[in-house]
Amino acid sequence: MLKIAFVGWRGMVGSVLMGRMVEEKDFSGFEPTFFTTSNVGGKGPDIGLEIPPLKDAYDTKLLSSMDIVVTCQGGDYTKKVYPEMRKMGWQGYWIDSASALRMEDDSIIVLDPVNRAVIDRGLSTGIKTYVGGNCTVSLMLMALAGLYSHGLVEWISTMTYQAASGAGANNMKELASQMAVLGLVSKDLLDDPASTAIEIDALITKEIRKSSFPVEYFGVPLAASLIPWIDSAMPSGQTREEWKGSVESNKILQNEKIIPVDGICVRVGAMRCHSQAFAIKLNRDVPLDEIAEMIKNANEWVELVPNDKEPTLNRLTPAAVNGTLSVPVGRLRKMLMGPEYIAAFTCGDQLLWGAAEPIRRILKIIIQHLS
Ligand code: NAP
Repeated sequence: MLKIAFVGWRGMVGSVLMGRMVEEKDFSGFEPTFFTTSNVGGKGPDIGLEIPPLKDAYDTKLLSSMDIVVTCQGGDYTKKVYPEMRKMGWQGYWIDSASALRMEDDSIIVLDPVNRAVIDRGLSTGIKTYVGGNCTVSLMLMALAGLYSHGLVEWISTMTYQAASGAGANNMKELASQMAVLGLVSKDLLDDPASTAIEIDALITKEIRKSSFPVEYFGVPLAASLIPWIDSAMPSGQTREEWKGSVESNKILQNEKIIPVDGICVRVGAMRCHSQAFAIKLNRDVPLDEIAEMIKNANEWVELVPNDKEPTLNRLTPAAVNGTLSVPVGRLRKMLMGPEYIAAFTCGDQLLWGAAEPIRRILKIIIQHLS
């Protein structure tokens, strides 16, 4: 029976992964072992099966007795343990949600509804390292796979509206506490029917500028504001998050000719759902109804939302999409710049398709490949 290690199962991505695996009854046909960096001997997750106490995630000898290691622990862990394991001659499969190995020559970035052929080629040629992509990139490709697969995309500009969860659990909690503070300070004015919006705005602006406002993790207010900078600076003037758009999408698809993707990545006050506004340059003029069909038929999770107010408000927002696997695409129309320019908008849960789901699915694909 295959032996599979799970590291980083209690973090944000890991716990969503565990939840999805239990939901899909994935824990059968292999022997799971759970590891920890902080609580050796402790109790593992409730997966509806008897499991042994937690093992040490730095015990490379034990880890290298596994056929597959699945880690959602983070880049520092990967950078420490992965090279050691390979140096020891371990030939198993390494599945990772961290970015550390994404751009390595001998790794594949996984998003099987979009690049199953690349994954299958990797498996048949002996690639053993499979990494989940950046959440924004994966969600963009899920949404626009139909245009890519028809070879229509010349370039994409994507302006993002990214959720707090992408920055980590503490940031997500900080957004909620910022909202709570603002709710509390404005309560009396909100309860007073005679108060004005301008008074409330003045109070909120004063509050978010106070040194007591909770900004330990974001550094600045996110509630009642936004942050047009995600991750570190790159020499190109992009942020690292913006840089990933082009390099990762081209690696995922293994395009022969680079298809540029660029834009500005912005953190907004959504909890776990990233949104993106696309300007897409097609390489030829295609009627809008044909474009809509291509987008809609690309995979079973894409949902085409008519470019009308009511369905857009009800189906194309983080509030509607949060916690689901649905990837709605809407606001689809030709742009004024010319018939090859398309506008579109999408939303997607960044902990599901943006992180845990591609990992869950590649694990199943590798298990199938080995059996
Ligand atoms: P995380 O929530 O910080 O969890 C990582 C590890 O931190 C856990 O497995 C756990 O390890 C430890 N930990 C310490 N205190 C904890 C607590 N109070 N609750 C839960 N775990 C705690 O990290 P993450 O956001 O899931 O990200 C994991 C990796 O996936 C990162 O490399 C990240 O870049 C990547 N990723 C994240 C996202 C995202 O949206 N967050 C999306 C795509 C990829 P022990 O059990 O060993 O202590």
